[in-house]
Amino acid sequence: MDQKKYKQKLLEEIYTQYKNCQRCPLAQAERNNIVFGDGNPDADLMLIGEGPGRNEDLQGKPFVGRAGKLLDELLESANLKRGDIFIGNIVKCRPPNNRLPLPNEIAECLPLLEKQIKIIRPKVICTLGSCSTRTLLGNDKKITQSRGKLFKWNNIVTIPTFHPAYILRNPKKMPDLFEDLRLAAQNIKNK
Ligand code: SF4
Repeated sequence: MDQKKYKQKLLEEIYTQYKNCQRCPLAQAERNNIVFGDGNPDADLMLIGEGPGRNEDLQGKPFVGRAGKLLDELLESANLKRGDIFIGNIVKCRPPNNRLPLPNEIAECLPLLEKQIKIIRPKVICTLGSCSTRTLLGNDKKITQSRGKLFKWNNIVTIPTFHPAYILRNPKKMPDLFEDLRLAAQNIKNK
């Protein structure tokens, strides 16, 4: 079995463990589908947002709404193909009214993301927005202070950047997100 298929098998095994997950209150909130994440199980780059929105919850896939479309366009411009990337979230079930995940929800769900990262073993992680950045890096910095800089999560290069939903509300920041994705692409090449 090649490496990609082996990693896919490992991911499917943990999805089976979590497919009826009731570990936190988000299971009982507005969940239609658990959004485990999507993409290449052998990806060089993982993008990590905060949690599924309405469209993601309905379709069971991450970043499928307007923010996802913008992200696809920026990835392509940065010579990164979505098919070569794995995209996930800090919490896998939709927080009601698109609020930020609460600390107890993050604490319950984070082990699943950590298992995904350890299986995929990307060269670079991009955290999208302050929630995923603060969660993975364990700090309370504003995203404007962290973005575009290189950090490490368990020895993996980690680059915080803006969440594409924020860019839809603040299009002037789009060049920053694009620049950070190019930085990610450059760091993949350097590995
Ligand atoms: S958010 Fe995570 S921990 Fe909470 S119910 Fe969903 S899968 Fe389980």
